Order: sequence, then structure tokens, then C-alpha cells
Amino acid sequence: MNAGQCAYPGAWPGTTVCYSYDRQEWKRCLDTAWDEATGALTWTHAAESNVVYYAYFAPYSHERHLDLLARCAAAPGVEVRSLGKTLDGRSLDLVELGNPEGSSVWVIHRQHPGESQAEWFAEGLLERLLARSDGLTLDLLKTCRFRIVPSMNPDGAFRGHLRVNAGGANLNREWGPTGDYAAPTLERSPEVLHTLGEMDRVGVDFFIDVHGDEARPPLPPPPPSSSSSSSRRVQRRIAPRRARA
Ligand SMILES: [Zn+2]
Repeated sequence: MNAGQCAYPGAWPGTTVCYSYDRQEWKRCLDTAWDEATGALTWTHAAESNVVYYAYFAPYSHERHLDLLARCAAAPGVEVRSLGKTLDGRSLDLVELGNPEGSSVWVIHRQHPGESQAEWFAEGLLERLLARSDGLTLDLLKTCRFRIVPSMNPDGAFRGHLRVNAGGANLNREWGPTGDYAAPTLERSPEVLHTLGEMDRVGVDFFIDVHGDEARPPLPPPPPSSSSSSSRRVQRRIAPRRARA
């Protein structure tokens, strides 16, 4: 195996390979082992079918992305529109719902396209908001305007990239000039440029950037006293065109 030559071998320690027979239900090969010296990732699996699929994370396909958008577009009070085009000409899709006059809540997902679990998160979030079946959801929809980007990097997802877009840019390093290069630009990172343009137009009161991190244990919720520093971090993150996340 050549796992040592991948874009981010630092993720292999502790990882467990996913497998599926039908690409719907995914389970883990818990005995996955990583050998840094040889660059080999190995696992044993007594397959119960001649057809079996292995994956780093449970995939979230472009087809499923389009199905999700269709469900959103068919729901009352939900607007689905394109923020612009990616380098490969795909649509950068935005889902909006809630009170148009409410606080502007942005949730973006999957800047790193290999982190497919981030788009599963988007699907769960949207399904809960669309269901309007609990008091918390109804309160939030009354007081907030949700602006949700389920997939920030559809080109990278389609091409099978782990970290970058079609032009090789790591979108999470494109939210402001770095000193080494101008960012975001239409040539390097239209995904971020279009998103920031809409943020400037409609405003941002709250922002979440959803990633998937296989190396990190589940994070506990922050204590109440940390809310102000979280707020400052969010402000730095989106503060436009200067922050490096
Ligand atoms: Zn990430």
C-alpha cells in the first residue's frame, strides 16, 4: 500500500477503514493498522459478498448532494440558489430558510472535500430545520435567517481530492491574503470569493465552518464563560479578507 504518499499521512494513526456492500450502510474495520516506517495501512476483513467497497470516510456523493438540494427546493419557505461557479463550472449552492429579517446564521461545510462527514452534518441540519417539528427549531426559524452551504468544494469532492479544489487551492487558506499570494480570487478560489461576497452583501451574525477531523476526539461543548472568546474567534475567522484559519 502507498498510504504514506497520500496528501495527509498524519491522519492515519488510529484511523479505521470504512466498508460497505451496498454503499448505503457503512461499518468500520476496527483492526486497521498504520505502519509509518513502511507507509502501509492494513486491515483484515472477512467479506460476506464478492462486492465490497472500502473508504476513508463514508462517501457523500454529488448525486446525494443534488437530491438534498431538490428536497430543500421543494420545501415551503426554502430558497435554493447558486452563489456562483466553481473552477470546473459546478454550482456553489446555498440553501436559505428562516426569517428574512432575522439574525444571519451562516453554516458552511466541507471546504476539505475528503471530509465527507461534514456534508452528512449538513444533511442532518437541513432535515431538522425542514421538519419544523420541535420548539427549538421553530424558535430558531423565527429569529434567524439560515444560510447554509452544504458543500463548499464540489469540484474537489467530485475529483476525489482530500484537501484542495480543482486548482489545487486549500480553501481553508483562502479567506484572506497570506502574504505569499492574493486570496480569495476568481482564478484560485472562486468558492470562497463568492461566499464572502454574499456574506458582505447580507451580513453575518453567526458563523460555523464544519469540518471532519479523524484525529481529534469528540469535543465537549464549551463552557458558558468561553462564549466571548468563541465570538472573537468567529469574528477573526470571517473578518474579512484578513484572517487565516
Ligand atoms: Zn478540514
